[in-house]
Amino acid sequence: MGWGWGWRPYVPVAQRRRKAILQMEKLRKKGAAIAPVRIEGRQIARTFWGKAWCEHLEKFSDYENRLPRGRTYVRNGAVCHLEIRKGEVWAKVMGSHLYEVQVKVKTLPEDRWKTVKERCGGKVASLLDLLRGRLSERVMEVVTDRDSGLFPRPKEISLACSCPDWAEMCKHVAGVLYGVGARLDERPELLFLLRGVDHKELVGSAQAGSVIARGKKGGKHKKLADGDLGEVFGIELAAPPRKAHSARGGRRTARRLGRRGR
Ligand SMILES: [Zn+2]
Repeated sequence: MGWGWGWRPYVPVAQRRRKAILQMEKLRKKGAAIAPVRIEGRQIARTFWGKAWCEHLEKFSDYENRLPRGRTYVRNGAVCHLEIRKGEVWAKVMGSHLYEVQVKVKTLPEDRWKTVKERCGGKVASLLDLLRGRLSERVMEVVTDRDSGLFPRPKEISLACSCPDWAEMCKHVAGVLYGVGARLDERPELLFLLRGVDHKELVGSAQAGSVIARGKKGGKHKKLADGDLGEVFGIELAAPPRKAHSARGGRRTARRLGRRGR
């Protein structure tokens, strides 16, 4: 490791950022949908899903030494484009040049997804609760479990960068991995897209099979999720989910009334 490792030639952050903005503008003019990662303040991720993603990756010894280099990168706006698709993340990162980063993530094995659904069965009240991370401790434990949860393990992830420093994990890739956390703050449903599963299947599925029966309801929720989540996230939930005993009470009253009627 020689002098100036990783920093040749030194380009001031502001200059790098200007260069990046110009390059992204060019791509936009060509019709590319450019989605930069913007971090406000020092915290990279603020929501349950974004934080859980970052904390999950930091748990692995394969990553813990290399990941921190990515924090400054993503905070400085170096991740000028990040797109999450099924099984992969594509990104453009400004270093001394503009580099292409690809992160491949294996889709969630069917049996693992089935187990997650069974363990969360009936405990996620609504799509909004799921996306906002308003989950019970039990559900949080299930979805964030290091080995059996929704987040990928390092052996399910393969990394690539077009930079000359490329060795296992460069700072561009590390920046992108944190960038994914920031993106999940805005659009948590992308985690499920990345893993190739339908997040709506986690909502209200108390028994196996009820998932399909609730397909119609899920459709209604989808419309909400596709809207501006920032706006949706600003709305407080109107009322806590109705408790089972009050529903039963209602039925009892109805029965009593019915009897009286007879
Ligand atoms: Zn790189």
